[in-house]
Amino acid sequence: MFARPFIDSVDFARNGRELRGETGLAELSRLGDMLARTDGALTFIVRGYREGDSDMLEVSLQGMCFLRCQRCLGELVYPVDMVSRLLLLPADRLDEVEEDDEVDAIEATSQLDVLALIEDELLLGLPFAPKHPEGECAPTTNGLQQKGSPFAVLAGLKK
Ligand SMILES: [Zn+2]
Repeated sequence: MFARPFIDSVDFARNGRELRGETGLAELSRLGDMLARTDGALTFIVRGYREGDSDMLEVSLQGMCFLRCQRCLGELVYPVDMVSRLLLLPADRLDEVEEDDEVDAIEATSQLDVLALIEDELLLGLPFAPKHPEGECAPTTNGLQQKGSPFAVLAGLKK
């Protein structure tokens, strides 16, 4: 079991700190049903920096997720490679940020749960209804899907 990392977000930004680590997808329980499998891991880098008078965090995520295709329910390998920039604001100023602003804001806290932050970014960044590319839903290409798949049964009937 990993120690769950917490950071003092504003201190992190003002001192240009950086945290690198790896988390198993199984740790990110809120992804739940989006994942076909929970094995695999993501590498993350959280970097603090200043932009003008603002305290900022940059979150980079890289790795593989196994999502469920919404057309054939088969496994879909989805490479994760995302970078988000987040503005740190005190809780009472979060309302000032417009929804369509290019930068997302999060609450500046001295006990920022890094894994929860990563989970938030993934939930925002992963496709809502992932699908294999057109024509690539053939269940026979996926060993896990062959047994008892309704598509395999249909294909058998046609012969
Ligand atoms: Zn599919």
